[in-house]
Amino acid sequence: MLAGYAVQVEQSRGRRFPEPAHPYRNDFQRDRDRVIHARAFRRLEAKTQVFTRRYSDHFRNRLTHTIEVAQITRTVAGALQLNVDLAEALALVHDIGHPPFGHAGEKALDAAMRAHGLRFDHNLHALRIVEDFEQRYAAFRGLNLTFEVREGIIKHSRDYSAADHPELAEYLLEQRPPLEAQLIDLTDEVGYNTADLDDGYEAHLLPIEQIRDSVPIFDRFLREVEELYPNVADKLKFNETVKRILNRLADDLIHNTQRRLKDEKIETLGEVREHRARLAAFSPEVSIERQQIKDFLYSNLYYSPSLAEEKIDAERVVTDLFSFWMQTPAALPQPYREKSDEESLPRVICDYIAGMTDHFIVEQYEKYCGSKEFSPQRTRGNTG
Ligand code: MG
Repeated sequence: MLAGYAVQVEQSRGRRFPEPAHPYRNDFQRDRDRVIHARAFRRLEAKTQVFTRRYSDHFRNRLTHTIEVAQITRTVAGALQLNVDLAEALALVHDIGHPPFGHAGEKALDAAMRAHGLRFDHNLHALRIVEDFEQRYAAFRGLNLTFEVREGIIKHSRDYSAADHPELAEYLLEQRPPLEAQLIDLTDEVGYNTADLDDGYEAHLLPIEQIRDSVPIFDRFLREVEELYPNVADKLKFNETVKRILNRLADDLIHNTQRRLKDEKIETLGEVREHRARLAAFSPEVSIERQQIKDFLYSNLYYSPSLAEEKIDAERVVTDLFSFWMQTPAALPQPYREKSDEESLPRVICDYIAGMTDHFIVEQYEKYCGSKEFSPQRTRGNTG
């Protein structure tokens, strides 16, 4: 039973190229499956989430992060009686446009593009992947996804103005996206805030005492766990604490969104779209707790000196390769050389680099820019 404000698959605006119905799967289920079968999706396995050099085989990469976000999204969407198939497809596709090397790679790629008066934006890149770069079907380029999935790719995390992006006019930019799309940015946060605490702890970069001193919600749940299980190993106390944080964030997202829908008397999808603001949200109280986790992760993990070296390497690899191909376009693979007849060279190089996995870009760097001055590989953490 879907709520009145959910997206009904029967009312989808459909695909660019109409296709016959599938006997067992509805259109959003097919879109979810098309994403899973895409090359760009498989490459997420070899793209950095937070750690470029892997300290351990237990850490998240962009694929396992994506699967965790899909799991959280299904739970939250189901509890809100939203369209779980659509929400799941959006969760699975949400990071598909990310370049290699996580945010360091994204920053370097955007900086390289800005030098040519252009930008790199991972949502817009994701749209290009599903609309154009994926080639699986004889009848059309791209994955021919439904309107609602393409709209969600663009609008899940931010608003684009029609003035700045006339090419996105078809995506109803003056309207809010459906709740299934609004959720994704928030379930993404639930996923990475808890997972990054976990990986940071496993990497021995975030000692438990340091987390509890800076993150009140962590301290509160750890106290509860210490009382319940005084004699278990620290790692288990840590896991129980993080599990409680995840549940609190997800639970708050469900209940606060329900409350807002009720207060604003939202009953239909049209009212969600026409509403002045996004309706999916954490409560003010939990927003503060979430911000405390984020602040802590920024200052102690993402910008920690331990990760600084690998970020500098990552930026150099992206920057040097970009300028190498700008100066030597003949060294680009044939399909990209051909594309540079239709599109600007920086855009073609950007598309090529953005699609690469971490190890493929390092291989390219060693081939064209030499392997000089790479920071030594870190020893793997001994993390049971
Ligand atoms: Mg993400």
